[in-house]
Amino acid sequence: MSDMTCKLLIIGAGPGGYICGIRAGQLGIDAIVVDEQKPGGTCLNVGCIPSKAMIHAAEEFHKLTHYNGTSPLGITAASPAIDLSATVDWKDGIVSRLNAGVAGLLKKSGTRLISGRATFQDGKTVKVTTGDTSITIRAEQVVIATGSAPAELPFLPFGGKVIGSSEALALRSVPEKLVVVGGGYIGLEIGTAYAKLGSRVTVVEAAERILPQYDSALTRPVLKSLQGLGMEVHLATKAKGLGDKGLLVEAPDGAEREIAADKVLVTVGRRPRSDSANITSLGLATNGAFLRVDDRCRTSMQGVYAIGDVTGEPMLAHRAMAQGEMVAEIVAGHPRSWDKRCIPAVCFTDPEIVTCGLSPEEAKAQGAPVTTGQFPFSANGRAMTMEAEDGFVRVVARKEDGLILGLQAVGQGVSELSAAFAIAIEMGARADDIGAVIHAHPTQSEGLQEACLAALGHALHI
Ligand code: FAD
Ligand code: NAD
Repeated sequence: MSDMTCKLLIIGAGPGGYICGIRAGQLGIDAIVVDEQKPGGTCLNVGCIPSKAMIHAAEEFHKLTHYNGTSPLGITAASPAIDLSATVDWKDGIVSRLNAGVAGLLKKSGTRLISGRATFQDGKTVKVTTGDTSITIRAEQVVIATGSAPAELPFLPFGGKVIGSSEALALRSVPEKLVVVGGGYIGLEIGTAYAKLGSRVTVVEAAERILPQYDSALTRPVLKSLQGLGMEVHLATKAKGLGDKGLLVEAPDGAEREIAADKVLVTVGRRPRSDSANITSLGLATNGAFLRVDDRCRTSMQGVYAIGDVTGEPMLAHRAMAQGEMVAEIVAGHPRSWDKRCIPAVCFTDPEIVTCGLSPEEAKAQGAPVTTGQFPFSANGRAMTMEAEDGFVRVVARKEDGLILGLQAVGQGVSELSAAFAIAIEMGARADDIGAVIHAHPTQSEGLQEACLAALGHALHI
């Protein structure tokens, strides 16, 4: 292939890069997306989609094992079994279908997808290498969407017994003893799945709480559920290295002990791939390890944008997608800038946690008086019919006029409330607006209406 030129070159076909490519194509921009892996990035290949598939399979299996004992529902199921290899094949099938879907959407938009490793020659020139061949692409503007990779602990390098999330989502048999280092998003989502599949799971978390970015009211039902599943959770405990039988840890009292493990899953965060593609040679301004961008995702070099995980927290697929769409529109000449009021976040534990906008503490820290309203699922008919009474919906509103500043929930299946939460905040709803909307009965979404009514002082069902 001879050298190429284009108006917009996007490095990385993860959620940020492929959405940028699709939108650019729709807008008639001559664009190329380059990726060394299958399209879809971390999220599709080894992240969001595979993890949710495995969580679903684990939940289905766990239901059957639960029904194997005594169920108040009057259901019994005999001797459930799981062939994890078949489960992984099923998950891989979903990933393949979506890989083809992303490639098809790029093609339909008119954007070219090139497979290969990108290396910057200068701010507008990139060499793309596939096997022994390489081409040079010259672009008017470039988007860096190189994403992130699992962070490694120097004393627990990946390999052998020590695995990262990608390997954990591809195991062909259920480990008898799994130790998870890091009780954050990934550790708890995957750890819970393995506990439901029958592993003896121990979580080692350095902080005083699991999911330390959330307030304790939100994480308490999750901790209770982990313990109900028989998972051991060691808080304020530091991983120290690998011993003969498993993981060496330092307990809160300073004592060292060993936790037996067949696999040690390390999930202590992700590092931005700001060192990929020879990016460092461009000398771009950084924010810690992340590339620094402004409210239009412009880096410190003219004509070079950056989006997604490589630009900072929250490292979420939908943030990367929203940035990708915005940058394509900016390149097309639209007057766009980052104007979002909130980025919803969902932790797919059991129960799930969803947060959007400001927590009560964050709102208070901003100075203006706030009011909160909370509605427990124990008072929600739908939750009772689903054996899902643990958890609540909480609203944080400005005291002065009831403007909704934040919404949070913990409970079974509350991820689906995230859209209602984000719409309420983006559209500037007040607690009385949501309180006045007819919510279908019986649904968990009535918890949102009731939390808003509670903030106004007149919840109907508590
Ligand atoms: P990425 O998806 O990381 O894509 C970057 C792409 O760039 C990759 O395909 C890579 O191959 C390519 N690339 C890098 N360097 C080069 C180079 N030099 N040449 C060519 N190509 C290159 N987020 C959610 O919102 N919801 C979830 O439920 C969720 N679950 C997750 C579960 C797990 C186990 C993990 C690991 C992550 C999860 N995330 C989730 C986070 C989500 O995956 C990321 O936020 C998202 O993928 C970031 O998108 P991105 O486009 O910035 O980068
Ligand atoms: P995380 O930041 O959520 O959690 C890492 C945890 O590891 C923290 O609780 C931290 O205190 C702990 N830790 C750090 N060093 C430790 C040590 N030496 N010993 C014991 N504990 C230690 O990171 P993650 O779970 O790896 O996830 C990375 C990112 O991926 C998340 O920030 C999130 O943006 C994204 N993600 C999102 C979803 C989702 O949206 N549902 C799911 C998975 C991942």
